[in-house]
Amino acid sequence: MEYQFDLLVVGSGIAGLTFALKAATSGTVAIVTKKNKIETSTNYAQGGIASVLGPDDSFQLHIQDTLNAGDGLCHPEVVDMVVYSGPDRVRELATLGVPFDHGSAEATGFDLGREGGHTRNRIVHAHDMTGQAVERVLIAAAEANPNIQIFENHLVMDLIIQHDSLKVGTVTLQHQDVCRGAYVLDSDQREIHAFLAQAVLLCTGGAGKAYLYTSNPDVAAGDGLAIAYRAGARLANLEFVQFHPTCLYHPLAKNFLISEAVRGEGGCLIDRRGRAFMEHYHPLKDLAFRDVVARAIDTEMKNSGDDCVFLDISHRDPEFLKQRFPNIYQKCLTLGIDITRDPIPVVPAAHYLCGGIVTDHQGRTNIENLYAIGECACTGLHGANRLASNSLLEAMVFAHEASLHCCENLESWRRRSLREIPPCFPAPPAERGTGGLQSEMVLITHNWDIIRRLMWNYVGIVRTDKRLALAQNHMAQISLEIREHMPHIPLNSDLVELQNLALVAELIIRCAIQRKESRGLHYNVDHPRRDDLNWQRDTVVVKHQAEELFCASIK
Ligand SMILES: Cc1cc2nc3c(=O)[nH]c(=O)nc-3n(C[C@H](O)[C@H](O)[C@H](O)COP(=O)(O)OP(=O)(O)OC[C@H]3O[C@@H](n4cnc5c(N)ncnc54)[C@H](O)[C@@H]3O)c2cc1C
Repeated sequence: MEYQFDLLVVGSGIAGLTFALKAATSGTVAIVTKKNKIETSTNYAQGGIASVLGPDDSFQLHIQDTLNAGDGLCHPEVVDMVVYSGPDRVRELATLGVPFDHGSAEATGFDLGREGGHTRNRIVHAHDMTGQAVERVLIAAAEANPNIQIFENHLVMDLIIQHDSLKVGTVTLQHQDVCRGAYVLDSDQREIHAFLAQAVLLCTGGAGKAYLYTSNPDVAAGDGLAIAYRAGARLANLEFVQFHPTCLYHPLAKNFLISEAVRGEGGCLIDRRGRAFMEHYHPLKDLAFRDVVARAIDTEMKNSGDDCVFLDISHRDPEFLKQRFPNIYQKCLTLGIDITRDPIPVVPAAHYLCGGIVTDHQGRTNIENLYAIGECACTGLHGANRLASNSLLEAMVFAHEASLHCCENLESWRRRSLREIPPCFPAPPAERGTGGLQSEMVLITHNWDIIRRLMWNYVGIVRTDKRLALAQNHMAQISLEIREHMPHIPLNSDLVELQNLALVAELIIRCAIQRKESRGLHYNVDHPRRDDLNWQRDTVVVKHQAEELFCASIK
């Protein structure tokens, strides 16, 4: 089947929904999302959104904190743009109906929390379930909008790219790739549809599932990165994977995060014997940057042989804790941990990908009419490390900027489409699994497991040249196996995700090998120092001409 919309948005998190709501004022928008619409990282965000709203705060301070976290790789003009735009974007959400907590004394009306790396209280939040509050309000608004249609259980496999070339006589002067839509797998019906649009917005979130331990939901398989890479988009800084220091460590808790805000409210990291250890690692102690805290915990665990460390907030008033962290309090209680009395067992886990698809200030990629917004994008805001709670903010700001650009250009894109001879779209590539070997599905689960373990052990919090080289060799083997065997397995979303995850893992390793220094989130024991002379630049990867072309294309 073929669908036609003005704009195609891939993903129903904060980036996709915010863009769709703004762009729907000018045209029709399809949002395709590979699972249930609410199943997004956005929905699990606890801490909140960083923005300059407090009387003692200033744009300059937020900018400086962001630059400090980014460790020399932030693009300063992007940091300025995002920070200055923040208060307006937060107020828009409040006007839409997001129930942010209100503080009595604050001039702006918001209760502002503090998180690691921030020198002021500036985190707007809705208790400790900010993401859920935002996601619900945005989804309700999108569903009520007649110009927006949401397709659940629809997984984008590849983009439809038109290769235009400008010829003068026999000489080709210029090649131009234009994105014309996407091939989408309807997982329920097991059918592939072509979604045609004037522009496509990749808002597919992160790639935490590349690691064994992650705070991310299952949808975070890096699809957008793999899709964009196959189409020829530039990707950057994939070596900068943020590990959240404090994921709940319990056999019955999957991906449950203990928010940074717990340390912001006085929570202290201790070892099994009750010894506080952060003072040995950083002057900011428990409020040091995430990478410092994650590495400190990793070191403590490796030195002691313990499976976890503990986060203790039991010295605070129990009523305050229940009111400030109702979600964390309840979740821990169901597992027999009373945070008002007991220290919480925690381990680090892959949490956020600072790199992604390279974009300009309006979310545009190097492929015409292809945009990337949110965690899948690399805008230049985060540099080598993300400041806590800057990601929801980034998604909103770039969704806003991209929507302005799309709305401005939509009419001329429509006119151009009318002038052109309608392109014919080939069938999507057959090698994406067409076979009937249902019994071989174990190939998917097995490879999925080994990739995630490999990434955790060899490409994790602390890296070495040797481990990275080993990881590259292993991944080459795994990818070969996937390429050889997968065509015999019936097409399904797990298979597509595995192929994407394998590609993203390879790209993360490639970026990590390239960067011969330690900076921000990338820590390599063999190159322990920051090297501005050689490495104060982004690590960019782009598909080599000779690489296998999965991407559907129009000649
Ligand atoms: C536990 C947790 C806590 C966090 N806390 C905070 C916080 O307090 N503050 C903060 O700023 N950030 C926080 N973050 C990070 C932040 O939540 C994310 O960076 C942000 O929500 C990403 O939004 P997004 O719209 O880019 O992607 P997501 O919200 O992850 O949405 C991605 C969407 O893309 C869809 N998708 C993916 N691939 C495909 C495909 N192939 N086809 C179709 N659909 C696809 C998914 O189904 C999903 O709908 C947290 C993250 C986690 C996991």
